[in-house]
Amino acid sequence: MGKILVTGGAGYIGSHTVVELLNKGEEVVIIDNFSNSKKEVLDNIKKITNKDFKFYEINYLDRDAVEKVFEENDIDSVINFAGYKAVGESVQKPLEYYENNIGGAVILLETMKKYNVKKFVFSSSATVYGNPEKVPITEESKIGGTTNPYGTTKLYIEQILQDLYKSDNTWDICILRYFNPVGAHESGLIGEDPKGIPNNLMPYITKVAAGILPELSIFGNDYNTKDGTGVRDYIHVVDLAKGHLLALDKLNKEDNGIFIYNLGTGKGYSVLEMVETFKKVNNVDVPYKIAPRREGDIAECYADPSKAKNELGFEATKNLEDMCRDGWNYQKKQL
Ligand code: UDP
Repeated sequence: MGKILVTGGAGYIGSHTVVELLNKGEEVVIIDNFSNSKKEVLDNIKKITNKDFKFYEINYLDRDAVEKVFEENDIDSVINFAGYKAVGESVQKPLEYYENNIGGAVILLETMKKYNVKKFVFSSSATVYGNPEKVPITEESKIGGTTNPYGTTKLYIEQILQDLYKSDNTWDICILRYFNPVGAHESGLIGEDPKGIPNNLMPYITKVAAGILPELSIFGNDYNTKDGTGVRDYIHVVDLAKGHLLALDKLNKEDNGIFIYNLGTGKGYSVLEMVETFKKVNNVDVPYKIAPRREGDIAECYADPSKAKNELGFEATKNLEDMCRDGWNYQKKQL
C-alpha cells in the first residue's frame, strides 16, 4: 500500500487524523503552509505517536509544488483538510475563500488524475444543509441555501466531486459532512487554537474560562429549542478523526463510488447545556450574557448518524463531558 497524503495536516482536524493514521501504522505525507496552524503541531504529533512522517511546507495552490509531492512519493489516497474555515471572515473576503478552497481542491484533483491516484476523502460540513427542513438530518436531506461563502465553498466542492465521478467512475470518493467538532487530543498536545477572537462556541468558552476574554455572549435565547438557545451536534475531534480511517477503509475495500456520510453523534446540545457542562466538569466559571441572535444562525442542527454507523461502522464514543474536559485541558497548556 502506498502513502496517504494529508493536506492541512497541521490543522485542527488534520492533526488529530494524522495521529490516528500513524497509530494504525499508515505512512503519511503532510502538506501545510501554516496559514492557520503552527509548526510545533508537527513535533507534537511525533511526541504523541512516536512515529515520523514526511512533510512539505507548501501551498496547495502551487501546482508545481503539489506535483513534486506526487512525483517523490507513492501516494495511494488523499485526505483534503486544507482550506479556510472562518465563517465571518469568508463574508468579508469571499474571493480569497473561493480561490483557496475551490482552487486548491481542483488543483489537487487534477494532480491526482495526472498521477492516477483516485481515492479522495473530502472534509465537508453540515453547513451544506443550510437551514434544515427537519432534524435529525439525514444525508438525503436537501442541500443548498448556505448562508456564507465558507459554506458555499463546501457545497460547490461537493458538486465538483459529483461531476468528476460522473465523468469517470474509476474515482473513489468519500464526502464527510462534519457536525460541530470540539475538544482535543487527551494528551493536551494538539487541539484547536484559532488566531484572534474565536467564532466558534467551544474555543470562545475556553478563552473566557482562561480569563483571556471577559464573557461569553450567548447569541439568542428565544429560539424554538429546549431552553431557547441554539442546539448543535458537538462531536469529539478524536471520534471525528477516526471516522476518516473508516472512510479510507471503505474506499480501499468496496467497488468504486461516491459516498456521503454525516459525522455526528446524533445528539443535540444547547449553548446553555454546553456552558453548564463545561463549568461542572472543569470546576471553572464561565461568565456569560444573553446577546441578540447572530445573523445566519439556525435554531437546531444535529445528525442522523445511522448511515455512517451501518456502512462504515462509525460510532462516536466520547460524550459532552469528555469534549469539555479535553478542550479545557488543551487550553490550559497554551497559557
Ligand atoms: N454561539 C454563541 N456564542 C458564541 C459562539 C457561538 O452563543 O460566541 C452559539 C451559536 O449561536 C450556535 C452555537 O453556539 O447556536 C454553535 O456555534 P458555532 O459557531 O460553534 O457553530 P455553528 O453555528 O457553525 O454550528
